[in-house]
Amino acid sequence: MHEAPLLRVRDLTKQFGEACSSCDGGENLEKNYCPTCGTVYACQNISFDLYPGEILGIVGESGSGKSSMMQCLYFDSEVTSGAVYLDHIPALAGKNVFTLSSQQKRAIRNQQYGMVYQNPIRGLKMDFSSVGNIAEKLIAAGNRHVGDMEAVSKSLLEHVHIPLFRMKEEPRNFSGGMQQRVQIAKALSNNPPILFLDEVTTGLDLSVQANVLDLIKGIQRDLGISMIVVSHDLAVIRMLADRTIVMLNGSIIEDGLTDQILEDPQHAYTQQLVYSLL
Ligand code: ADP
Ligand code: MG
Repeated sequence: MHEAPLLRVRDLTKQFGEACSSCDGGENLEKNYCPTCGTVYACQNISFDLYPGEILGIVGESGSGKSSMMQCLYFDSEVTSGAVYLDHIPALAGKNVFTLSSQQKRAIRNQQYGMVYQNPIRGLKMDFSSVGNIAEKLIAAGNRHVGDMEAVSKSLLEHVHIPLFRMKEEPRNFSGGMQQRVQIAKALSNNPPILFLDEVTTGLDLSVQANVLDLIKGIQRDLGISMIVVSHDLAVIRMLADRTIVMLNGSIIEDGLTDQILEDPQHAYTQQLVYSLL
């Protein structure tokens, strides 16, 4: 028997542009782009479930719609259509969270979700201290006790291996790998059940990449947080994800257990991804 999913995504669609008579209904596209009116169909009817404690990987080439999807999930950008359900919250059971008020969405962002962006500039205030960055998120979730917040911030930064003597430093002084670790600490600050990670190791040196991947794996093991990990790099997904979804041109073309996808890829694009690892 399956546990109930934590997050259910149904027919998430994100389109940039107004569409036209030529492309309406998703026809006459070049990849996900309408050459007549310039509309981009970034995500088309994306549906999946995220289960408690699992890491779900989403892999696909650049431009396949991965970040657009994450930004819709995290309410950074507005969906065109579709639904997300967080049925584990009794007050929200059966409610499409995209239809909630902006205040309710903010509460979900602060209490249910953590986000780690590819570019740390999006996730961190570079002129706040590392501790201050975490406190900001704690305050957003309603915390007021300065002593408590400092203690929580320190323990989180310790958890991601930022040395104590650097905690008051601004993350702009840090290396890329350290900045990502501060972002991860910040994303974890309100104990969210769900963490979104968008290309968190892209652009880092291989050895630094391995450290950050180890950290993510350890967090999932120790804290049991459910994660959606997005990457163009199947090697990253292979290292982290229990299950994997493959996206191409805004659509899901394949999904299954990561091991299964690696051993027996069905779609020609997935086969190409898998063989390029060998
Ligand atoms: P990925 O993260 O998989 O590389 P993205 O979600 O960033 O893909 O992009 C998906 C598609 O949406 C691409 O064709 C991209 O050019 C387009 N796109 C992303 N953001 C915008 C935007 N703000 N305006 C127009 N098109 C966009
Ligand atoms: Mg992206």
